[in-house]
Amino acid sequence: MKYNDSHLHIGDYQRVKDILSNTVFLNKYKLYKAVNPITIKQTKEYLDLINDFFAIPIVFKEINIEQENEFIKKYCKNIKKGIPVELINDNKYFYYYNRIPFFKEHFLLHKFDELNNRSLYYDFLNQNEGYLILHCNDKIRIEYIKKLINMFPKMNIIIAHLGRDTYENTTFIEEVLLEFKNYTNIYFDISTISNIYNIKMALSIIDSSRILYGSDFPYDFNMKDEESRINKINKILTSIDFNNLMENNFNYVKEKVLRK
Ligand SMILES: [Zn+2]
Repeated sequence: MKYNDSHLHIGDYQRVKDILSNTVFLNKYKLYKAVNPITIKQTKEYLDLINDFFAIPIVFKEINIEQENEFIKKYCKNIKKGIPVELINDNKYFYYYNRIPFFKEHFLLHKFDELNNRSLYYDFLNQNEGYLILHCNDKIRIEYIKKLINMFPKMNIIIAHLGRDTYENTTFIEEVLLEFKNYTNIYFDISTISNIYNIKMALSIIDSSRILYGSDFPYDFNMKDEESRINKINKILTSIDFNNLMENNFNYVKEKVLRK
């Protein structure tokens, strides 16, 4: 099946292997254990199965952000596929490689509440009506995201993983969705959501034009499991909603960011 993946990570096998064998964070952050470098070796294989994708650098505390941004840019250029999403590197380094107003911030790399450190990036996205991918995953960040969108009202935000907390608690996801129901420039992606009911619920609150499919490859990724997840999603969604999630919304965002 061909579809568009709005949330996947591209990393270098050797760099990831080196980080994982030397890191002191293995027991502190779940996502260190969620990456098996062998999966990274299968990147090309996975990318051949899908139509197009938004490519996010692989994230660890130890990475060199410039190096990863540069890596993604070249990678997408070489395979003539994929839209690079750049990691924000705080104001002191404001420059961007791809001339595409599409950034990601990550809780491993920034103190999330110190948003002034990233204001040049937000300003830029605001001016260009660009997109920012971030995590919600705890109550305090609901307020943070509201503050962001009030300060930078033309910026679009994609909340990863339906805003879930660590345990994919349905009540919490519902709370996040309801908080942002009326913010038309806030989108969600369904990467890593294993309980299909949570996706169904999301669609009962948020219009399907604001929900994007994502795999979060290579974090906790297994091709067979992902295929079966997609099949389950297909079964419970109307074909209009399914096509929006898997294809149309991606194309909409892609066109908007490439037009700038
Ligand atoms: Zn991710």
